Amino acid sequence: MTAAPGHVAELPARHEAAARDLGAARSAAAALLTALGVDVRSGSLAETPARMARALDEMLTPRDFDVTTFCNDEGYEQLVIEREIGFRSLCEHHFLPFVGRAYVAYLPGDRILGLSKLARVVELFAHRPQVQERLTQQVANWLNASLEPKGVGVVLVAEHMCMTLRGARAIGSTTVTSALHGLLLTDARAREEFFFLAGIRH
Ligand code: ZN
Repeated sequence: MTAAPGHVAELPARHEAAARDLGAARSAAAALLTALGVDVRSGSLAETPARMARALDEMLTPRDFDVTTFCNDEGYEQLVIEREIGFRSLCEHHFLPFVGRAYVAYLPGDRILGLSKLARVVELFAHRPQVQERLTQQVANWLNASLEPKGVGVVLVAEHMCMTLRGARAIGSTTVTSALHGLLLTDARAREEFFFLAGIRH
């Protein structure tokens, strides 16, 4: 297979780690907790603001990866599906996590992508303040632009802590979103095959 690193769609700018100020984040976390009536001076909570700052920083920092596409020399024409990709993201409305599984598929055209990259693309877009609908579309749009495949299907199933721990307190409820392009959007048979092989009940 021939690697063509220059072919992929531009990856979105990563959150600039250099622009972050973890010290300021720690102070702000301490101020937030204090304002909520939590005494961070007590022994067991003394390190909590720093941990909060580091935890959020980690959730906003995707791991680096190289995106390389390959020529589809074998002429593979059927669906490529990565199922049950675990992901976690941060709801931008409440800054609480949403956690779930992604099902990502494409019908190859002239280019294919290393299999592990499907999970890494989900991670890349998940590690930023998000809403599930946009995350779903960003993954699908990126695959569509990078591979110019005959079809793309992305389904996310996630539990939102802002739904289950507060507000509606709908414990155990999940939110399902999908983004379909090309034949997976227009061809009912291809779409059925995607949902069947992905194992998504619908
Ligand atoms: Zn929320």
